[in-house]
Amino acid sequence: MDALHSAFHQYLAQTSPYPIALDVVAAEGCHIHTRDGRRYLDLVAGLAVNNTGHRHPKVVQAIKDQVDRYLHVIPYGEFVQEPQVRFAKHLTGLLPAGLDSVYFVNSGTEANEAALKLAKRVTGRTRLVACHKSYHGSTHGSLSITGNEGKKYRNRPLLPDVHFITFNDPFDLRVIDDRTAAVVIEPIQGDAGVRIPDPSWVQALRDRCSEVGAMLVFDEVQTGFGRTGALFAFEHFGVVPDILVLGKALGGGLPMGAFVASKERMHLFTHDPVLGHITTFGGHPLPCVAGAAALAVLVEEDLAANARAMGDRFKAGLVHAGIVEVRGTGLMLAVDLGNADRVQRVVHHCLAHGVLGFWFLSCPTAFRIAPPLTITAQEVDHAVGRILEALDQTA
Ligand code: PLP
Repeated sequence: MDALHSAFHQYLAQTSPYPIALDVVAAEGCHIHTRDGRRYLDLVAGLAVNNTGHRHPKVVQAIKDQVDRYLHVIPYGEFVQEPQVRFAKHLTGLLPAGLDSVYFVNSGTEANEAALKLAKRVTGRTRLVACHKSYHGSTHGSLSITGNEGKKYRNRPLLPDVHFITFNDPFDLRVIDDRTAAVVIEPIQGDAGVRIPDPSWVQALRDRCSEVGAMLVFDEVQTGFGRTGALFAFEHFGVVPDILVLGKALGGGLPMGAFVASKERMHLFTHDPVLGHITTFGGHPLPCVAGAAALAVLVEEDLAANARAMGDRFKAGLVHAGIVEVRGTGLMLAVDLGNADRVQRVVHHCLAHGVLGFWFLSCPTAFRIAPPLTITAQEVDHAVGRILEALDQTA
């Protein structure tokens, strides 16, 4: 092990017994370069972050320009900062009525925490409903509504009065009643191994929440910004949430989260008590300009359309006796091999041959394909070739 790898293991807190530990020196487009001179085709995109590719020139330029103006000046909400205002205006312009006020925070999990607080404010209730096998983040509130017991059991007590329903099960909607403050779902479940619900279930969920006055919260941290072949996944279902939670690709490669709701509801944070949610760094100008530039690229280059086309190309190419199913839409795909051990061997084989894939938290029998949305047909074909080869050699 070289000195840098030893220091990595010695001085950085580790969360995995077996980190991949690629020694990164550069990244651009769909590729990551390592110190040993290798180049990896990235099918992970920083885990659904680098939707416009690594270091898109327009994103990099926006960051450089802002560095020459100002960085952090004040905690969120006190000063008029043009990057925040412009980004919020652009974002809400792309969203339906009722999602017209943005609160910028620092991560997906923080956005979920704040969304829960807002739902409690709006409804005056405390009960929360979420789905089995969901993932909403690693802080206490988000973990409380995460449906992955393996990640929770060492952290109890968590939030009380949280109830879990089965994703896509119409019968379970009866759990939602007039005591419910919020129902939080991923409109397409990510870490459950990419699960797409029936549009009729999503509509019934919307109707049930409206009927009992519960806030419907869509966690689009992973599904947002073109990943599923639409700018936001809720568009697939024709259903608008009361609160939309964003993160990952939102910041164009810089850390950022946000939640979006109606102006009237957001306004509740201004009184009783004032400063209803506080963040020092939320809305930092750098992720705002990077996110705004990335959003402009997504729209101008119609990367959602490329996600659809390239997702279909992956599906058409990934035909093999070892594949049970390729699930997903756009470039949010799960390749299910029905066998956790084989998933490990295929992912490691691909890695050894310059293709970076990744796992799911709650679906060990599948691996993830979620590259930058800028991926080309040639790159898809190359990745498919390596995956099929890996399947042949790990039979
Ligand atoms: N929500 C979803 C659906 C996610 O996939 C994730 C992260 O994977 C999060 C929330 C948490 O986001 P963060 O890691 O930025 O806190």
